[in-house]
Amino acid sequence: MKHTKVKELLNSASTLPEVNAKGWVRTFRNNQFIALNDGSTINNIQCVVDFENTSDEILKRITTGAAVSVVGALVESKGAGQKYEIQVSSLEILGDSDPEKFPMQPKKHSLEFLRENAHLRVRTNAFGAIMRIRSVLSFAVHSYFQEKGFVYVNTPIITGSDAEGAGEMFKVTALPFDNTPRTEDGSVNYKEDFFGKETNLTVSGQLEGETFAMALGQIYTFGPTFRAENSNTSRHLAEFWMIEPEVAFNDLNDNMDLAEDFIQYVIKYVLEKCPEDLKFLEGRLLEEEKSKPQAERSEMALLEKLDFVLKNNFKRVSYTEAIDILRNCTPNKKKKFNYIINEWGADLQSEHERYLVEKHFKCPVILFDYPANIKAFYMRLNDDTEPGKETVRAMDILFPGIGEIVGGSQREERFDVLVEKMKALNINEEELSWYLDTRRFGSAVHSGFGLGFERLVLFVTGMSNIRDVIPFPRTPGSAEF
Ligand code: ATP
Ligand code: MN
Repeated sequence: MKHTKVKELLNSASTLPEVNAKGWVRTFRNNQFIALNDGSTINNIQCVVDFENTSDEILKRITTGAAVSVVGALVESKGAGQKYEIQVSSLEILGDSDPEKFPMQPKKHSLEFLRENAHLRVRTNAFGAIMRIRSVLSFAVHSYFQEKGFVYVNTPIITGSDAEGAGEMFKVTALPFDNTPRTEDGSVNYKEDFFGKETNLTVSGQLEGETFAMALGQIYTFGPTFRAENSNTSRHLAEFWMIEPEVAFNDLNDNMDLAEDFIQYVIKYVLEKCPEDLKFLEGRLLEEEKSKPQAERSEMALLEKLDFVLKNNFKRVSYTEAIDILRNCTPNKKKKFNYIINEWGADLQSEHERYLVEKHFKCPVILFDYPANIKAFYMRLNDDTEPGKETVRAMDILFPGIGEIVGGSQREERFDVLVEKMKALNINEEELSWYLDTRRFGSAVHSGFGLGFERLVLFVTGMSNIRDVIPFPRTPGSAEF
């Protein structure tokens, strides 16, 4: 007999004379009621064991974490909260789980403890829900771009360009650490390395993505990226997934429209596909926030917050306007910020971004037209820009509770301006000659952005630490599993 998923059993159109369910025991009450979960849904199916006709030896082995297979009738449940249950006629223990040793006991565990047990935390309600939502969200990403005719591009993970400057890179090498081949001046001789040159793990697929956009029109990447920056925050991972669309003939406004439409689409998608998981996480969050002082609690419950993002346009604000707001705001005047904003040109810290989003505008914000010297070399210089106060066509999307979720720009399409900029920043033209070919041959206005997938999952699930929305987090000092 083939087993049926718990989700299908709970949604069955009728009672059934005989079904088989397989899963893991969450709890076993009164020597009679198994709450069985198989990961297909947040909901458990209740399996009622005929304990009088089941040997003690078997009953003892029905423990939290054990894998079991039950056969029996799917009947209407007398218990509250579920339509159906299984009246068990036979039960097989597939795999025992020693209750003295199994770490995921049915009680509240700290998130820290669960992180240390990342291989087992997925057996809890919260992490089951988060990982199902993560999966649905990644499908939504593809669905959005595919529906719009974007081409999915797999940019290299091992890259030969080190000039991108998006973050510190991890070196990829096959050279030995003892007896490392050296050049005459004593530096490492990468000519003898696997690729015959220095290579790194990618920090972004953008530059390669641009070359594809300048042929295929609309492209997106969705893959792992790596940053060796030592930022031990609740928003940074050393290995994270990034989505990077790049579109020929889009200017900065088109780019903002695309980012906003895309984010709203994926949130709508997950609201439709994962109502039960989201409801569960909303409850979890309310519970967690009860222990916080009123001022620190979210103003909206999770579903309301997601709905708000769907129904309201993101507020578009220039960097210059933002600086004016920040310069004159109370926390700046009272020196409550760690970094006081005194003048135009200052780089915004996460405290400033969060003030703008959470206290001032109270909605998602798109900041645009940043000072050129705090942004990357490839961003389009504004035409009407004042000497000494040059701005570029950059945009960052800031979200409540998250800060920056998207960073993007219109790209500098003018060969001469781009080369000039690279010279000023000491970026090797030879190395990036392939990239400059996009500007040498058939250059055109184009734009794109990068969205950190885990920051999106953080927002949607209402979790507060990025380590809790990726299966096996990599952070400074930690690469378990
Ligand atoms: P931040 O200022 O938050 O460190 P960034 O400006 O370095 O981010 P970008 O280079 O613009 O980030 O990358 C694009 C997007 O990738 C960011 O908007 C963010 O969503 C995500 N991102 C960047 N760094 C990380 C990281 N270390 N872990 C997870 N997501 C990240
Ligand atoms: Mn950024």
